[in-house]
Amino acid sequence: MRVVDIIEKKRDNFVLTNEEISYVIKNYAEGNVPDYQMSALLMAIYFNGMTREETAALTKEMLNSGDVIDLSKLEGVKLDKHSTGGVGDKTSLVVGPLVAACGGKLAKMSGRGLGHTGGTLDKLEAIEGFNISIGEDDFFRQVNEIGVAIVGQTANLVPADKLLYALRDVTATVPSIPLIAASIMSKKLASGADKIVLDVKVGSGAFMENLEDAEKLAEAMVEIGDSFGKEVVAVLSNMDQPLGHAIGNAIEVREAIDTLQGNGPTDFQVLCVELATELLTLAGIENPKKKIATALENGDAYRKFVSMVDAQGGSVAQIASDSLPRAKEVIPYYPTENGYIVEIDTAEIGRAAMLLGAGRASKEDEIDMAVGLESFIKLGKKVSTDEAVIMIHSNGAVEEVVEVLNKAIKIGDMLVEKPIIYKKIRNS
Ligand code: URA
Repeated sequence: MRVVDIIEKKRDNFVLTNEEISYVIKNYAEGNVPDYQMSALLMAIYFNGMTREETAALTKEMLNSGDVIDLSKLEGVKLDKHSTGGVGDKTSLVVGPLVAACGGKLAKMSGRGLGHTGGTLDKLEAIEGFNISIGEDDFFRQVNEIGVAIVGQTANLVPADKLLYALRDVTATVPSIPLIAASIMSKKLASGADKIVLDVKVGSGAFMENLEDAEKLAEAMVEIGDSFGKEVVAVLSNMDQPLGHAIGNAIEVREAIDTLQGNGPTDFQVLCVELATELLTLAGIENPKKKIATALENGDAYRKFVSMVDAQGGSVAQIASDSLPRAKEVIPYYPTENGYIVEIDTAEIGRAAMLLGAGRASKEDEIDMAVGLESFIKLGKKVSTDEAVIMIHSNGAVEEVVEVLNKAIKIGDMLVEKPIIYKKIRNS
């Protein structure tokens, strides 16, 4: 087999065989295929796409490139959730403990933030001592006893994806539905869960900016799940505005705690309840909505969060006394005009938080846990120039942040409204 023939075949829009996909991915991961050939193949895939079978074969080869986690030591149905990434997205911090409080088991491997999106691990590390790299035995024990653990991915989980993603990043081939679907699903499948809920974000702060593309991505991921015999539900949710109010690290943990106590912002709470409902339904737990409402009301969901923090070495005292890091200054931001918020460039709002120090522009950057935005901007909200809509939590200069915010928030005279959840796509 020759890689050049495989490239030529894809270039001419023919369907690759499983053997051809396996050959090229395996050899690329082993360093036997040069980047220039892999780049050419990625570009051919970008233009000509992949069939369902090709995408499944790509996913299989990627997932087998490294560790495949065996979760059989966990009792009951093993659940996992994944978000395609957004701004103010702290859902795992709420959904994990909430599901556990209702009898589900969520063994979650999360990532760090890069660019305009935040990462669950960074947020959890705003809590003093929180350990995201507990050993495998502790991980299993914690999920069996408490029902939830959130840890970092093992270093050798889908190494082929690390290589391919880095190459896609510099060859303008990231926005390809089969490549994104295989990248996400290979990691989910390698993480070992039985049933998976995907939160596919749609809008200006998401990978998929319109509903049509998000549907295609969701369908591709659900189909991959099907090919591997896994039940998968994709929830398509709004990312045309930041989720909830908090964008940052400590500030998002605080909002997650409020939500676990039943006092979260409506959009965030609705999404968390929906995701938790889908997970519990997949686990065969009856009356999930009722159980969720009870857990939020009687403190069980919050207590699960505290148990998880405690089990992973985090400071419960810091949570209880609300002494998570706080920025030196809180500066109000005022809209530039009177009217209604008609459009938000959500990725730019995320970038504003990053400029404050809440996120990373490059992998090496350090995060300031205390800073961020407390944002009350929502599409359709009536605003005036004398009423602050964002509180900037800052440890430094904010001029550039204010400029970014001015450009990101469009004010007009129409009342724009968008749903919190667009639709669900499932394979079961
Ligand atoms: N997230 C991933 O993990 N992979 C992609 O290709 C895009 C988003």
